[in-house]
Amino acid sequence: MRMTRDSPPLVRVAGVARDFDVSRPWLNRVLERAPRQLLRAVDDVSFEVRRGETLALVGESGCGKSTVARLIVGLYAPSAGRVEFDGVDLASPEAAGRRRGMQMIFQDPFASLNPRWRVRDIVAEPIRVLGLAAGEAEVAARVAELLRQVGLVPEDGEKYPHEFSGGQRQRISIARALSGNPQFLVCDEPTSALDVSVQAQILNLMTDLQERLGLTYLFISHNLAVVSHVADRVGVMYLGRLVEIADAEALFARPLHPYTRMLLDAIPDLEMSGKARTPVSGEVPNPLDPPTGCAFHPRCPHADARCRSERPQPLPVGTTVVACHIAEALGDGNRPARAKP
Ligand code: SF4
Repeated sequence: MRMTRDSPPLVRVAGVARDFDVSRPWLNRVLERAPRQLLRAVDDVSFEVRRGETLALVGESGCGKSTVARLIVGLYAPSAGRVEFDGVDLASPEAAGRRRGMQMIFQDPFASLNPRWRVRDIVAEPIRVLGLAAGEAEVAARVAELLRQVGLVPEDGEKYPHEFSGGQRQRISIARALSGNPQFLVCDEPTSALDVSVQAQILNLMTDLQERLGLTYLFISHNLAVVSHVADRVGVMYLGRLVEIADAEALFARPLHPYTRMLLDAIPDLEMSGKARTPVSGEVPNPLDPPTGCAFHPRCPHADARCRSERPQPLPVGTTVVACHIAEALGDGNRPARAKP
């Protein structure tokens, strides 16, 4: 099943925020008369993930995209706002067991696989824990089927993770994630630790599995070129906030937020069209002391006095939702449409 614009949401994130206490130890604070310090890693983020689609969250390191992923799967609790899965608030008592429908794939497959376990036991663990098979024969058959689904052979189940290449280890991670029969996979930079040639194979595998099993993906990446191959919609994050969310085609053809434009202009020109690549300029501000108004204003070529004092709220411009005071003017055709990278 692939998503359509009318697909109902499977995941709804509403006004979610997450603070981390980064204060110095209590005794230091007392001696130095220093206050507690809270770092707001995610600030008032709202979006939906529709059934059967791939929503990508992109942004530079430290923008909060991985924190959003961890908030959704329950590794962190939100400081404000709520996360709904299949219409149920995940903080409510009715949500017990609902998280079984979601699994996470991590960036470093070697770190996320137990090196002392054979692959068959790694893949079988969720089946056993969740009681998804009637006996050990059924577990073994299911493990063999999962290994085949991800492009390995059942005999690979006898080996240990160190006997595989990076790409094969990520295939094992995917098999383990699928073994609990999830509807929703959160993929946190699943290919960024892999060679470029292997990245394409893993992305193709993920797309193929999505079509065959009707999966829904949240895909976290700092790499817009990778995102352009897999995403149906793209959300762009900057300093903990979602600054633009749009259909992938619209976002790559006509980005509205100046930050999205900066990220797209930095993608290498693989089509050799002669367009110059512009490296991302400036630095992400200190999240402990974020800029006033629009957090992007110190790096924005269009910033004015209003941007320095008033925080822009996300508003629809056509089918895109964007948080920028001048997005409407920027979307007014004053920039040539570009091809997808
Ligand atoms: Fe730039 Fe102002 Fe838009 Fe922020 S609100 S992105 S500073 S133009």
